[in-house]
Amino acid sequence: MTIERVALVTGGSRGIGRAVVEKLASSGYSVVVNYLKSREVASDLVKNLPSNVRGMAVQADVSEPDAVVAMRDRITHEFGRLDLLVNNAGQTLAGDWRTLDAATWERILQVNLTGVFNCIQTFAPLISESDQGRIVNIGSVYSDIGNSFVAGYSAAKAAVPSLTRVFAKELAPRVLVNAIAPGDIDTEMTMSAGPEFIASTIAKTPVGRLGHPSEIAALVAFLASPDAAFITGQTIVVDGGRTLGV
Ligand code: NAP
Repeated sequence: MTIERVALVTGGSRGIGRAVVEKLASSGYSVVVNYLKSREVASDLVKNLPSNVRGMAVQADVSEPDAVVAMRDRITHEFGRLDLLVNNAGQTLAGDWRTLDAATWERILQVNLTGVFNCIQTFAPLISESDQGRIVNIGSVYSDIGNSFVAGYSAAKAAVPSLTRVFAKELAPRVLVNAIAPGDIDTEMTMSAGPEFIASTIAKTPVGRLGHPSEIAALVAFLASPDAAFITGQTIVVDGGRTLGV
């Protein structure tokens, strides 16, 4: 009998997370689709997963520890296991650093940094029970190249490789922990930055285009696979050469 493997994708309703959900489901994972507000979108996604896998949509704000614990309880009740956590939920909340208010700054750090910690802290014991436990965190190249309009976001994302190394050591050898730092990917988050930003970032990207969410999803699937069993603590850049400094 085949073992049912279960993945949780935070922020799985849209963009990169949605592509990860679809890729993992097509690879045979049952998938929990976490979302913040997009209830219908997440439910439709689950309904349309391949018939050989199970799916569940769960609303939870990853920045709230109690909500993450409640999500774990639902997953444990429904599936009894978790093999893969993809910490993908994120928000930019852009604004000029001169006028950024304290509440917005806090919120950026809560979602993009504390949310990753909350999920790892809550799910690590469950994932440690798996014989193929994996965590993949989604960082950003903006942690390296910086962007003054998303100062808090860049700073929060800069902590993702660090947390990845910490938990790679803490959870070894049962759980492998890696991160992906995408460049600019064709999602609502990138589109919200406007056409001028998009044109300028494409001009700075040697491959000459935005990335596709499926190009991040493919790497998540690889890092979750047995072929990646000797990789841990790494942050892999997928950016069409954006960080080469053209
Ligand atoms: P997106 O299209 O804006 O989608 C964001 C997803 O995160 C949605 O599913 C949203 O849920 C969810 N979400 C937001 N805040 C949440 C919270 N507090 N709790 C739970 N879920 C939450 O974003 P994306 O472009 O796919 O980005 C996905 C990840 O990749 C983010 O971590 C982002 O920082 C990172 N990234 C993106 C790019 C890029 O160019 N797009 C580049 C580098 C890194 P709802 O649908 O319910 O709102």
